[in-house]
Amino acid sequence: MDMEKTGKFIARCRKDAGLTQAVLAEKLGITDRAVSKWETGRSLPDASLMLELCGILGISVNELLTGEKIEMENYKEMAEQNLAELTRVERDKNKKLGRAQTFIGLSGVVVSLFTIVCGALIAVDNPGVSIALVFFGGAMILADALYATVLEHESGYYECQNCKHRHVPSTRAVMLAIHVGSDRILRCPACARKGWHKKVLNR
Ligand SMILES: [Zn+2]
Repeated sequence: MDMEKTGKFIARCRKDAGLTQAVLAEKLGITDRAVSKWETGRSLPDASLMLELCGILGISVNELLTGEKIEMENYKEMAEQNLAELTRVERDKNKKLGRAQTFIGLSGVVVSLFTIVCGALIAVDNPGVSIALVFFGGAMILADALYATVLEHESGYYECQNCKHRHVPSTRAVMLAIHVGSDRILRCPACARKGWHKKVLNR
């Protein structure tokens, strides 16, 4: 996927449709800065806006991602390439989030345990400070676990082990779910059963 090519293509189609950046932005309910960023290849339109944008410009999502009009005989091949590319971009983003989660989780636990151990060691001489340190360490572990869970929730999907349906449950459902590692017991919206869900990076 060539974002610059896609950007130039958006600009060309917009001008062909007789629209200014401001008018296009208004139709989509976004800022003209966002349109300018697409057209200079600095960002891609969000997936949620792509269909509407393509509707306005009279092109297909496939053509948008390819950055040019596509002949009918090449259509399927280009569609598959573009889909594979989008999937790869999404998986990379999710992998990064996953690594951040592991790092924050581990470093947070180490620092918290260190604080608690220090607190315990000075208990005889400084009981007040000791209690404060142990309490603070405990609170840090909790906050850390909470943050790691939020990050886990944001990266990828949960796959129902009963029907293989993949979905993103609410943050609340994830936080309250019993889990081992990132496998959690959740209710599946497809088969309505409550059971183990495995963490996966792609839909
Ligand atoms: Zn299911």
